[in-house]
Amino acid sequence: MVSVYDTMQREIVDVRPADGSRLTMYSCGPTVYRYAHIGNLRTFLMADLLRRAFEYTGTEVHQVQNITDVGHMTDELFGEGGRDRMEIAVEVEGRSAQEIAEFYTNAFFDDVSAFNIKRAAAYPKASDHIPQMIEIIAKLIERGHAYETGGTVYYAVESFPRYGALSGNTLDALVADHRKEIGDTNKRHHADFVLWMNAGPNRMIRFPSPWGDGYPGWHIECSAMSMAHFGDSFDLHTGGEDNVFPHHEDEIAQSDGSVGHSVVRHWVHGAHLLSEGRKMAKSSQNFYELRDLLEQGHTEPLAARLLFMQSRYRAQMNFTLESLTGAERALERWRRQVANWASQPVTDADTSGFDKRFRDAVCNDLDTPTALALVSEVMGTEALARGDKAALLMRWDAFLGLDLAREVGRTVEVPQMVLELIEQRERARTKKDFSSADRIRHKILSLGFEVEDTAEGPKPRPRAR
Ligand SMILES: [Zn+2]
Repeated sequence: MVSVYDTMQREIVDVRPADGSRLTMYSCGPTVYRYAHIGNLRTFLMADLLRRAFEYTGTEVHQVQNITDVGHMTDELFGEGGRDRMEIAVEVEGRSAQEIAEFYTNAFFDDVSAFNIKRAAAYPKASDHIPQMIEIIAKLIERGHAYETGGTVYYAVESFPRYGALSGNTLDALVADHRKEIGDTNKRHHADFVLWMNAGPNRMIRFPSPWGDGYPGWHIECSAMSMAHFGDSFDLHTGGEDNVFPHHEDEIAQSDGSVGHSVVRHWVHGAHLLSEGRKMAKSSQNFYELRDLLEQGHTEPLAARLLFMQSRYRAQMNFTLESLTGAERALERWRRQVANWASQPVTDADTSGFDKRFRDAVCNDLDTPTALALVSEVMGTEALARGDKAALLMRWDAFLGLDLAREVGRTVEVPQMVLELIEQRERARTKKDFSSADRIRHKILSLGFEVEDTAEGPKPRPRAR
């Protein structure tokens, strides 16, 4: 049984599929006018781990993740004063919105593969669900939850008594909050939000609707796509904690308001990622995408996966390049050990004690730090034969997703040229000519090998991917 912290219920609850067999799970996906940054990846990883936890314990998961390729896309990380980022991208990149969306959708899938995130069963695109959004908006107007003025449709938050239940925001607090702002005079209540936006004359990306040309608000997209796939009830909805308000609060008001009952059974949110001790910002030096890390020589994305797992998904974590280097070393060491041990015989020793503790960690609100501590414990224990340790770790990797068996069975012939370069490097190092030694090391790297300096001298091994 997997238990997880439910944001709405504000406690850890047992989660099981409503239909008794297959868990339905919707994960907020990427906005595809830019590359995902590592904070996004941490959120996507959380959804992956949650899914793997269910699968590890024998529950099938049907996961859907949306691609936001249209709608009102703004991004405080980029500080563009509320302008739609896709429209800016069209201007800056000189490509159509569709081309840009395709490009960054592919980039997203590259990241997903690099991070060993399991593919969802479906990746619906917002642009394919405009009719469904319009249908929900029409229903909300009909049910007295929304109103149209000047081609823009707003959600009337006062019509939905549970508004604020997820985030803990009361309407009173929201009113106080908005009093400072210059109000949108078309709104009936300061906290009312846009379902459908009048396109106006300058907007490029626009769709026809019963209220004239316009485009959807961001929140309505997830209501439409989740209900298009799962109908009016599903088990689990994931996202980052910055999605709690307003994105998911508004999604609840829309989805539940349109069908008259609660649609999502459990809400799960991952915590913020700090980078180098601060909130990540495009304008600072602490903003990383996966490709930035690769460019700086961090060539194993799964080391970042390991690093993220060292903190629990609900804990704020601080990403640093230094800690990433530490994770790279640990992962390499683990893979080498597994490869060394995998050739040893498996005995009939009882590993159920370790297995149970690992499973408990997985099921206990995704306690990845404890799961990883168990990996270290197994690595170091004398109580198990080496073959048993390898078998255990390879089994656990179904949840961890760290490719621990990557080096297993890999016996690589080291080319003569590499051996000669290693000798040259040793001679340079003896002469304390470190710049030459470093140059030679890069040459060796370019041939697909790296050198490990051990007590018995330098040892070549295939470069970590
Ligand atoms: Zn969403």
